[in-house]
Amino acid sequence: MIPLLDLTRAGVRDLLATWGEPVYRGDQIYDWLHKSLVTDPEQMTNLPKTLRARLAAETHITPLSLITQIDSRDRLTRKALFGLRDGATIETVLMLYNQRRTLCISTQVGCAMGCTFCATAQGGLLRNLSPGEILAQAHWFERWLRQEEDAAAPLRVPRPSHLTNIVVMGMGEPLANYNALMQALRGLADPETFALSARSITLSTVGLVPMIDRLAAEDLPVRLAISLHAASNRLRGQLVPINKHYPLEALIAACHRYQTQTHRRITFEYALMQGINDAPDQAAALADLLVGLRCHVNLIPLNPIPNSPYQPTSPEAAARFQQVLLDANIPTTVRLRRGIEINAGCGQLRQAEQQVMIKN
Ligand code: SAH
Repeated sequence: MIPLLDLTRAGVRDLLATWGEPVYRGDQIYDWLHKSLVTDPEQMTNLPKTLRARLAAETHITPLSLITQIDSRDRLTRKALFGLRDGATIETVLMLYNQRRTLCISTQVGCAMGCTFCATAQGGLLRNLSPGEILAQAHWFERWLRQEEDAAAPLRVPRPSHLTNIVVMGMGEPLANYNALMQALRGLADPETFALSARSITLSTVGLVPMIDRLAAEDLPVRLAISLHAASNRLRGQLVPINKHYPLEALIAACHRYQTQTHRRITFEYALMQGINDAPDQAAALADLLVGLRCHVNLIPLNPIPNSPYQPTSPEAAARFQQVLLDANIPTTVRLRRGIEINAGCGQLRQAEQQVMIKN
């Protein structure tokens, strides 16, 4: 079976050429998949019946099947656990704030980066997602937003409804699955089909320096977020082990190169952990590190995970930390913790589900 969503437009055309069909059939199918978001060849009503039958027999469309879905109590966050065709599972989270409908997507099954406060890291890396598996998460929620009629448990979604933003902050390290991710993001940003502006896509990385340079050279203006979490190599090496390969000097230098090349503001993410990285002098060290970068700091009170010593900062300590950065003229926000009770933190629903499955 050919996974159709893994194919670019050129790939669909090529497939159809090998079937002896004209180029425009490939374009019709690509548009059905990426614009109309159909999940069944029978819905491709401008194709001859024989071609629809061949698609049904030899290809498949959506690689995702919904396992569980949970809404937060305030009905502003919906989290889905999807099963893939090989039985692996991934998480995707929809968040509604203000007029935004932001989707947090995964790029890998698990993660190899080993960050010591992250739930996804605890199971290690199983495999990369394919371009279609990445894209399909956005397609799935877009379809749902377009026809939201879930009367039993509607989210508070303003109409007309479609995804406005994507954050690549789910399971996995996006820049460790570079080619598949780029193909997926190009598909989503294609003005002819899904038409999400690249500027409304934010990619978050642990800091793979060579890949940041590669991203800077792409003609796809997505936004970049860097998971910093510490301003000294000693501490960052404990929290984010990849720091031993790409220490802060190398990472910050890459950020400067990225900014010189793209002129885009960079977001730095910093998960505040009580007694670990939340002291005012650590905020001052962070401000020093960021001198000369046009950036924004996103302070995230830690989502505590099982079997981890780290606890979230108090609101007072978070405010103190923020003030040091603001005083240094660095735009800084403390991110609201959303969906905590639905395990919306990175990798947490999947982990909870696995524990349930193990107990049963
Ligand atoms: N691998 C990428 C993207 C996935 S994680 C990265 O590291 O950026 C998205 C963000 O959530 C990262 O900043 C990550 O460090 C953070 N994160 C992971 N576990 C967390 C937790 N338990 N509490 C708060 N933030 C967490």
